[in-house]
Amino acid sequence: MSNRPPAEPGRHPDTLAAHAGVCPDPVTGALSPALQLATTFEHAPDASTPLGYLYQRYDNPNQRQLEDVLAQLDGAARALFFATGMAAGAAVLQALPAGAAIVIAQDTYFGYRALIEGFLAPRGLRHTVVDASDPEAVRAALGGDVRLLWVETPSNPLLKIADIAALAELAHAAGAQLLVDGTFAPPGLQQPLALGADVVLHSSTKFLNGHGDAMGGVLAFARDDALAAACYDVRRLFGSSASPLSAWLTLRGLRTLPVRLQRHGDNAQALAEFLAAHPRVEAVHYPGLPDHPGHAVAARQMRGFGGVLSFEVAGGQAAALEIAGRLRVFTNATSLGSTESLVEHRASIEEPRVVSPRGLLRLSVGLEHAQDLIDDLAQALETTTP
Ligand code: PLP
Repeated sequence: MSNRPPAEPGRHPDTLAAHAGVCPDPVTGALSPALQLATTFEHAPDASTPLGYLYQRYDNPNQRQLEDVLAQLDGAARALFFATGMAAGAAVLQALPAGAAIVIAQDTYFGYRALIEGFLAPRGLRHTVVDASDPEAVRAALGGDVRLLWVETPSNPLLKIADIAALAELAHAAGAQLLVDGTFAPPGLQQPLALGADVVLHSSTKFLNGHGDAMGGVLAFARDDALAAACYDVRRLFGSSASPLSAWLTLRGLRTLPVRLQRHGDNAQALAEFLAAHPRVEAVHYPGLPDHPGHAVAARQMRGFGGVLSFEVAGGQAAALEIAGRLRVFTNATSLGSTESLVEHRASIEEPRVVSPRGLLRLSVGLEHAQDLIDDLAQALETTTP
């Protein structure tokens, strides 16, 4: 018997999230979904698969339960869950027709840039890098064999904002599809498909799971089209499926997504305002600040500005590392979107393809009390050698 959650058409996304996977088990009455680790499923006598499951790598109950909720939250015709965000992004690139070219935003996550520029370009993928906040540059790069425009908004780590609706129009006019990496702004904060995007990509390792204990990647498609089918085939044939445990943990994380996003955003706004007023801080990158270059677009296309920000200090790498080392409430670690706050000197981990300024620190703002976070930053900034 399928343990898919009942569809809840017309319900507010907060309600959908709170009910994610809640469907009393017909045998036990349990409200929390069962973790199904089986790798194989029984055939009917005629070799068909009456419940739709053949082999865990193709499809499995926990994955399907999660995908149903993800599709509802993103307003998608179909969602696919992968082992990591990298695997999800790679699937789109592998699914492109032979000879297709792509356009990517300058400020795309450095892992995807390493994949595209360092690995796929030498194997024949043609790509152009553009500033996605400059529509003329994007228009000029589109056309010909370009089949995909890939942008990230807000971007990592400079929190640049791309105008999704405007870019969707440009892409479609040139015969391309628009992919938006919405990892920094999960459903509830931003709905790229409703703004005209064709595919949304998330690293669910971050806010969607929200507890720093399960890797995962999501592709949510506006239409159940040839690209979606090809990405499903990539997952099945290249074996980039996630474990059922990752799906189970991610579904559990989704239940608290709306309330977590609210707190992440409130804390990040408070820290951004504190840092913007601090004499030792040279720049703060957070779209919730009115002087951020993407503030107006972000205010239009987002419902809150998210839980990640970055800032730059005078003194470059040495000063930034010293500050990171003095923080006590923030942990110096990579990743983002979990309950605890993290700080990271991005340039150090981007070697040899450094795209971040040397004096930049990225903060993943967690769910602690805002004053503890502000006090921690204050002591670190004030005790660091000027
Ligand atoms: N997209 C963004 C914006 C990211 O920050 C990351 C990872 O940090 C990824 C995608 C890749 O996701 P994963 O680490 O789950 O493979």
